[in-house]
Amino acid sequence: MSDVLAVAEHRRGELRPVSHELLTVGREVADASGGDLHVAVISGTVEEYAEDLNREGVDAIHTIANGEEFNHDLTVESLDALWADLDATYLLAPNSVNGLDYVPAIAQRLDLPLVTDTIDVSLDDGLEVTRERYGSKVETTIAVDVEAEGGAVVSVRDGEWPPAEGVGDAAIEAFDPQIDESRIRSTVTGFQEVGAGDVDISEADFIVSIGRGIEEEENIELIEALVEATGATLSASRPVVDNEWLPKNRQVGQSGKTVTPDVYIAIGISGAVQHVAGMKGSDTIVAINTDPDAPIFDIADYGIVGDLFDVVPALIEEFGGEAP
Ligand SMILES: Cc1cc2nc3c(=O)[nH]c(=O)nc-3n(C[C@H](O)[C@H](O)[C@H](O)COP(=O)(O)OP(=O)(O)OC[C@H]3O[C@@H](n4cnc5c(N)ncnc54)[C@H](O)[C@@H]3O)c2cc1C
Repeated sequence: MSDVLAVAEHRRGELRPVSHELLTVGREVADASGGDLHVAVISGTVEEYAEDLNREGVDAIHTIANGEEFNHDLTVESLDALWADLDATYLLAPNSVNGLDYVPAIAQRLDLPLVTDTIDVSLDDGLEVTRERYGSKVETTIAVDVEAEGGAVVSVRDGEWPPAEGVGDAAIEAFDPQIDESRIRSTVTGFQEVGAGDVDISEADFIVSIGRGIEEEENIELIEALVEATGATLSASRPVVDNEWLPKNRQVGQSGKTVTPDVYIAIGISGAVQHVAGMKGSDTIVAINTDPDAPIFDIADYGIVGDLFDVVPALIEEFGGEAP
């Protein structure tokens, strides 16, 4: 019987969606190992977060009320203390900017093996963790000898597991780690959003995304009319960003952002693996492309083989908008 500790993440007063996805993978691991699922939420309005994290399958939530925003040292010290208190075996964290900041440090502190950016976890035959390699071209499965190592730290890619739903009956406990203040060497002085004032596409429910098929920057005006008519959020493939037609924070893919909207409309995007890596978790994928053999159609739920300059104005009209 081995327990799991999943570390929730929040930013600017809101739990990040990956926190609820972690509960799903955490429950799967706990079920397979016959253990309990513990959740840690550190800093900020921890009671509020605990309420939201109390979903089906969670056994215990540990609130650690120190600081407002993420702080590397506080997180490492808090997790170190909680880990010693719980005697868990698996530590799961988001493979986010924050997660990647502290998971190597906590794995080193606990002297545990670390596997990052996992897209699948299995305990059928010992712990096996799947990652993508070579620009998402191949998947590799790594076996971790948890018994010999005494546990494992795994960071989980967002958008790979459905969020946990329902209301749970977890025990919510305040944990007050005894932290040696001399070990807190970093201070949070403020928060700066990348591309301040712009949207975070990873939080969008409805995305209209454009690729090289748009041909010229001027043609983005047409897509913006569709975005306006549908209330969608605009994103793009890498060539559009490389051309500086849209800012980097709008790029979807391996070297851009991972998005998981309800609807993703890919317009003039071929469906290269590096792009697909960032949007394949979308619920419904619609592709518009002149090439019937474009790889994007392999993953699309709905496909329109056609010229975007004909199809998009028709869609704008359908949604009650006006094409430029
Ligand atoms: C290390 C690495 C990281 C990368 N990271 C990313 C990443 O994060 N995100 C990303 O997107 N890419 C990334 N790439 C680039 C990736 O390999 C592709 O080059 C890129 O995704 C292609 O973008 P695209 O589909 O817009 O363009 P193209 O592959 O050129 O496709 C354009 C598509 O538009 C269609 N088209 C043309 N005209 C029209 C029209 N009038 N109407 C409708 N359809 C039309 C064409 O049939 C074609 O399918 C990365 C590459 C590497 C090596």
